[in-house]
Amino acid sequence: MRYWLKLCAAFMGLLMSCSILCPRGIAMPLQNTQEQQPELKITLLGTGNPRPTSERSGPAILVEANTQPPTRLLIDAGRGAAERLFEVGGREALSNINCVLLTHLHSDHVVGLPDLWLTGWIFGRAAPLMLRGPGGTSEMMRHLEEAYSFDVHMRRDVDEHLPAEGIAVDTMDLQPDTPLNINGVRITPFLVDHGPVQPAFGWKIEFHGRSAVFSGDTRKCDNVAKYASGCDVLVHEVIVPEVERRLSLMRDPAATQRVIDHHTTPEEAGDVFALAKPRLAVFSHIVPSPATSRDVEIAVRRRYKGPVVVGVDKLVIEIGDQVKVRHAGHRHH
Ligand SMILES: [Zn+2]
Ligand SMILES: [Zn+2]
Repeated sequence: MRYWLKLCAAFMGLLMSCSILCPRGIAMPLQNTQEQQPELKITLLGTGNPRPTSERSGPAILVEANTQPPTRLLIDAGRGAAERLFEVGGREALSNINCVLLTHLHSDHVVGLPDLWLTGWIFGRAAPLMLRGPGGTSEMMRHLEEAYSFDVHMRRDVDEHLPAEGIAVDTMDLQPDTPLNINGVRITPFLVDHGPVQPAFGWKIEFHGRSAVFSGDTRKCDNVAKYASGCDVLVHEVIVPEVERRLSLMRDPAATQRVIDHHTTPEEAGDVFALAKPRLAVFSHIVPSPATSRDVEIAVRRRYKGPVVVGVDKLVIEIGDQVKVRHAGHRHH
């Protein structure tokens, strides 16, 4: 009950903040009627970071393109990615991700990957899981296959006899600026600046004249503004330094400062938004998780006056003639 109250309060807060922050052209319908399907649909599955909290799951964003059947891409697979995916899209989504795109190999972005890989297979995936990411991705996945070999052997060869193809992986490390094409969806990794964590990617996804750009983890980075220039939606990470300093659980203040230095403050993100001029800017990967949307909004408004939304888990952004924002709510599967 308390959870539901909190969820409702969070959603009302979101609606209120959107009514403040969204000028014309950004519609906020509570129900979608029989309109033209949006070309791209983004669902923020997890808007958090390493801090364990059910309020914000680990980083994971579902991007769906309006192909037949839909093309589903998952950007990062942080803690709770499989749960959130199942909540919003059931077995169909959980077992039919066309490709997982990693931004970088920090644990908060990949700790949910084995869950997604294994549970998606148990729930029906019959084709290999496609995984793309920066250098090191294939090696990490090879080790995960080794780590879970007992379970794979049991379910594939001994007990359930799940299809061998469904637990295979098609993994490749990518170079930046080399686009992939999946079902006519153009997917481009580009370099961002996450301090010593190299390589770190942002991703640009384009379909039928619509585009969405995802910053990944980065400090203020010109390349994000360049790739996001004129895009429909820019999803950007953020850190609120004052709140991080207050709530950090690290003993060494210098380590906390290094964390701050490898991310983007709301003011800096405002500069990036002002350069890129997306139809809608969205914050996800909000550090620290207890930072409120107000903490972020007040600061970003010092540098940026355009439409911006502070993400919550399961926020849906539809990109068509209009950019619409709603909450996926809770479905039982
Ligand atoms: Zn992160
Ligand atoms: Zn990171």
